[in-house]
Amino acid sequence: MSYSTVNPFTNQTVASFPDATDAEVDQAIDTAESAFQEWRATTVADRAALLTRAAKLLRDQSEEYARILTLEMGKVIGEARAEVALSADILQWYADRGPDLLAPRTLDAAPASGRAQVVKEPLGILYTVEPWNFPFYQVVRVGAPQWVAGNTILLKHASNVPQAAAAMEKLLLDAGAPVGLLQNLYVTRDQSARIIADERVRGVALTGSEEAGRIIATQAAQALKKSTLELGGADAFLVLDDADVAKAAHWGAFGRHWNAGQVCCSSKRMILVDSVYDEYLKAYTAEVAALKAGDPFDESTTLAPLSSQKAADDVRALIGEAVAGGATATEVGEPVPTTGAFVQPTILTNVTADNPIYRKEIFGPVSMILRAADADDAIAIANDSPFGLGGSVFTQDEERGRAVAAKLDTGMVYINQPTGVKADLPFGGVRHSGYGRELIDLGLYEFVNDKLVVVSDIDGAF
Ligand code: NAP
Repeated sequence: MSYSTVNPFTNQTVASFPDATDAEVDQAIDTAESAFQEWRATTVADRAALLTRAAKLLRDQSEEYARILTLEMGKVIGEARAEVALSADILQWYADRGPDLLAPRTLDAAPASGRAQVVKEPLGILYTVEPWNFPFYQVVRVGAPQWVAGNTILLKHASNVPQAAAAMEKLLLDAGAPVGLLQNLYVTRDQSARIIADERVRGVALTGSEEAGRIIATQAAQALKKSTLELGGADAFLVLDDADVAKAAHWGAFGRHWNAGQVCCSSKRMILVDSVYDEYLKAYTAEVAALKAGDPFDESTTLAPLSSQKAADDVRALIGEAVAGGATATEVGEPVPTTGAFVQPTILTNVTADNPIYRKEIFGPVSMILRAADADDAIAIANDSPFGLGGSVFTQDEERGRAVAAKLDTGMVYINQPTGVKADLPFGGVRHSGYGRELIDLGLYEFVNDKLVVVSDIDGAF
């Protein structure tokens, strides 16, 4: 494993960081456990106050934080600022609502059952493995609810965002957190497995690929501990015959190309009913052609490089695989820069169900355009995927949109916009997109002990 910052716009290595030693990993687990004993004894109100301070620091120093993201994984600076703001919103959401959501619940049990309450208690140390595409948001999305619940976190972040990972640890310390509330570790695969196996580690959360999900979930299951998995996606973007096609094309271009197309829930498969196919494709192609690739620090850039040269090479290989399987690949827009991890926006048409690419996720500015006979056919195509993260339906009839949403086998459906991310909406998928939910109360309750406490009439006869 090699933890390094490589600027994807220049492909220059900026900094490298040594792997953790085994002794450092052992020490980190000890520290996380002592921090847990201290943290669990604090009031929820005190924990919420820490999150408020962290949110404020993020907002006050937004520019410094945003620049780390743009440097390390290449996202355009405006999107980097938006990620910092979203992370602050999530911290604040849990600061505001955590105390109520964690209040004991008195059960409506029969008198003979005793006076019963369910008390929400923290579990202990959680191990989180996170990807590079939203380096702050991913950490905060799983961290904020767990810090307010009273848990502590060991973080293994992606090897290409080591400075973002360190910045998150520092943010918490700057906000006044005890040492050990969040510890960033540059761990190897073996050390990662050892952390999962440690009895003091009580839960595991991974956001990443299917491949990593299978490994991490297996390791967690071997150790008999709970895991949550937020994995890949190939979100369908259905455009029905009554859609506002211009609006759909505009949203489609955004939904597929923000973060350079490296979003688990980006609109990767556009499924167009026959009657709007030509109109949509024309409007969509024009929208994609208008994207401007360039330096992600330049405010006018709208298409970023991919996160690394390897990521760009992998996407090109998948385009080749699609073409070899019979698809037509049309490159769109002004040529992208020849240095840096850029990929030319590409539209894939004539993708048949027997093309190996048909059921794969492409993590970059590549759009798969599929033709459907009608709405039912569009739903069938949408569900013909191993993934089940999000999805979109474009129609001007809300009831029709809801009826289609009910038939999509996914964790999220957005009507008339691409799948989104907000501090006050839950996130997660089904099937190969993983299990468990993040954000709102659902994310908070993933790693708490719902402890039943029953008080009986101690003076009464047994
Ligand atoms: P990845 O290779 O699975 O990496 C994700 C994280 O897992 C990284 O920190 C990586 O570390 C770590 N990892 C991978 N294999 C591991 C192992 N055997 N043991 C311990 N850690 C391991 O994913 P990626 O390809 O970089 O990221 C993109 C994927 O994540 C896409 O499939 C995307 O859809 C998915 N994603 C999902 C969501 C969601 O919320 N559903 C959000 C964002 C991304 P290294 O960097 O050191 O390899």
